[in-house]
Amino acid sequence: MAVVPLSLRVASGASTSTSLDWPRLLAARGRSAARSRRTLRARARADAGAGTDDVLAHIVRTIRSAAKAGRDPDFFELLGVQVGTDPEDIKKSYRERARVCHPDVAGSEGHEACVVLNEAYATLMDDELREAYQVERTFGSLGFQGSGDALRDLYDILGDTDIGRALRRTPYTGEPLSKVVGRDHFACKIETDEQAAKAVFVDELSCVGCERCFRSNPAVFRMEGTGRARVFGQWLTDEESIQIAIDTCPVDCIHWVPKEQLAPLEYVMQHVLRDRAVFGKSPGDVFAKTATFIAAIQKATETENNL
Ligand code: SF4
Repeated sequence: MAVVPLSLRVASGASTSTSLDWPRLLAARGRSAARSRRTLRARARADAGAGTDDVLAHIVRTIRSAAKAGRDPDFFELLGVQVGTDPEDIKKSYRERARVCHPDVAGSEGHEACVVLNEAYATLMDDELREAYQVERTFGSLGFQGSGDALRDLYDILGDTDIGRALRRTPYTGEPLSKVVGRDHFACKIETDEQAAKAVFVDELSCVGCERCFRSNPAVFRMEGTGRARVFGQWLTDEESIQIAIDTCPVDCIHWVPKEQLAPLEYVMQHVLRDRAVFGKSPGDVFAKTATFIAAIQKATETENNL
């Protein structure tokens, strides 16, 4: 059934307007508007409360799952900021979170969160500590320990290879190129720790540009100027929607990958293989090339640990 636009519905009712009781209608409208405003305010209060609980729950979950895995929690994630965020914004985010997690408000869980939040804040607000932490995090994201020397070793190991040349042009930050939002962000559709441990990746060099993934899930997938798809944002829709895109890809070039492999995979795709394709060389296999990259990182780390 065709939907009649509101303007037409009003116009079609104009012939009955002479029988309407306008004062009563306007009064009723005023009461309805006041009710709507009260409802909106109540909803905003409820949302603010839910957001506060979500932030605390996310911080505690991040701390505990890191402890379970025998590693430190990600300081950037704890503070809800990205690598490269301005110190003033880090401070602002820290203050908001510290207020939510204050033990007087949030009890023992708040105390647990505040201890780690304070450490994260002290680290990220100090230039030297932040730099050292970022390098450690870059390597740690792959399961290795490392430092600035390990990075230099990495450049030496890869030398004049395509990855080595790419690293000299564009330093590897350990950050994914697709958008990743924290679990406490309203747009993040992660519901379980299992989901949080994986990410979605498009092997762009195998993509035939059919646009099915983009059409079924435009929040997550985008088409590049090259006519190939890529992942724009991780977990911006639920798992079922992402899985539908994966299942309907005609060349099976969309993959779930371990979260810690996302950054090196995207780096290799974007900065190593796409360049080769542009220059007419055989681009190679992104997974094999990334394995080489990860192995070089591991070797650099071991070299430094043995010094
Ligand atoms: S469905 Fe597969 S082949 Fe089609 S655009 Fe998406 S990634 Fe490329």
